[in-house]
Amino acid sequence: MDNPAWGGILRHMDTDIIIVGGGLNGPALALAAAQAGFAVTIIDSLPVDQRKRPDFDGRSYALALASTRLLRGIGIWDAIKKDAQPMLEIKVTDGRAGEGPGPWMMHFDHAEIEEGPMGYLVEDRHLRRAFLDAMAADNRITQLAGETVVAQDMHGPRVAVTLASGAAITGQVLVGSDGRQSGTAARAGIKRTGWGYGQTAVVCAVAHEKPHGGIAHQFFMPGGPLAILPLTGNRSSIVWSEDETRATALMAMNDADFLDALRPAFGSFLGQISLTGARFAYPLGLTLANSLIADRIALIGDAAHGVHPIAGQGLNAGLRDVAALAEVFGDARARGEDIGTAQTLARYQQWRRFDTATLAIATDTFNRLFSNDNPLLRAARDIGMGLINAAPGLRRNFIREAAGLTGDLPKLMRE
Ligand SMILES: Cc1cc2nc3c(=O)[nH]c(=O)nc-3n(C[C@H](O)[C@H](O)[C@H](O)COP(=O)(O)OP(=O)(O)OC[C@H]3O[C@@H](n4cnc5c(N)ncnc54)[C@H](O)[C@@H]3O)c2cc1C
Repeated sequence: MDNPAWGGILRHMDTDIIIVGGGLNGPALALAAAQAGFAVTIIDSLPVDQRKRPDFDGRSYALALASTRLLRGIGIWDAIKKDAQPMLEIKVTDGRAGEGPGPWMMHFDHAEIEEGPMGYLVEDRHLRRAFLDAMAADNRITQLAGETVVAQDMHGPRVAVTLASGAAITGQVLVGSDGRQSGTAARAGIKRTGWGYGQTAVVCAVAHEKPHGGIAHQFFMPGGPLAILPLTGNRSSIVWSEDETRATALMAMNDADFLDALRPAFGSFLGQISLTGARFAYPLGLTLANSLIADRIALIGDAAHGVHPIAGQGLNAGLRDVAALAEVFGDARARGEDIGTAQTLARYQQWRRFDTATLAIATDTFNRLFSNDNPLLRAARDIGMGLINAAPGLRRNFIREAAGLTGDLPKLMRE
């Protein structure tokens, strides 16, 4: 239901789970929790029509195999799979614009594991629409769109949120899925650790003459990484991280000048390239909530951990939060427990805290190590890449990591 007519002047609604933020992780949790039998109310400041526009967000996501299992489990994979490009190989090289890829490379091939492709590339426009359509079709989910949460309070065994429109919603638990500047976390007094990288990711899609063969490329350039990610057809998504000044200049260029700037970094291995749509800019930074939980509150996705896209793991980590939290809620209900108690939420925090902090540290370190031209660091990382590439055991570990198959997987992400 999209903005239901509030009952007279009462403007109050009760539910099991309140989710603030209808980006990507919020809807995934709404669907997982609804399928476990919970009544869910999900609130987002933006109208549904705006979020459904094909040019709403230019990103394409490298979704790990484990994440696609979750999407299958919550019933949206069928709506996406024809537009999803299997990721069969990943090639990582050190590079400088104009010089092409360096001699050292890491090459990860899905053929080294039994489970299939390491993951799939999915465009935001397809993923977001599938989430919104699936939520609209589920009568256990109430979608409040174009409504902004401005306050939250505890009332004994209930938590209440107030909307800018004056309406109030009560529930057993409040989930903050409201992104990097999470108001849910701030209102709960959860502090954050983080910093900006002084980098911006310029994102666009290109068409090219030659097929990409399902291979994702990551070139480490001095200004930041350049990812070339295979999309369906002869198309690829570009995530080009550059320092802010250079990124501003790249965004201001006309298409022809932008392509002239991109070509030396991109190389000629896919033949002629052309832009297939607009360019989008995303300022990059790290933001980690100091706790994933508070009184009757849990944080998921970027509200809990916003990381550098260098390893394409932000959404994958958020979807792991979703699968873990849905399982914690389901287990608590099966035992007859209140899903919002400190003990229940502590199980979620214990499950996800280490993993998300490790991801934040790893992406931060990679970005510092690779986004510079220091000759000593360059030599060290090239030798490191060579060593990893030459060791089949290490290589397979990286492939399993990229596929999201390591660690304590929630049920929704297991086969
Ligand atoms: C360039 C780039 C490339 C990336 N590539 C990948 C990739 O390949 N693979 C991967 O796994 N991850 C990737 N990521 C990370 C991924 O994009 C994010 O992790 C993901 O989009 C976060 O989704 P979210 O739902 O947690 O938050 P958001 O998408 O930020 O959603 C938050 C929502 O909350 C709403 N909201 C906020 N405050 C309120 C309020 N008070 N009331 C109501 N609503 C509110 C907002 O309107 C918004 O819709 C990439 C990120 C970047 C920047």
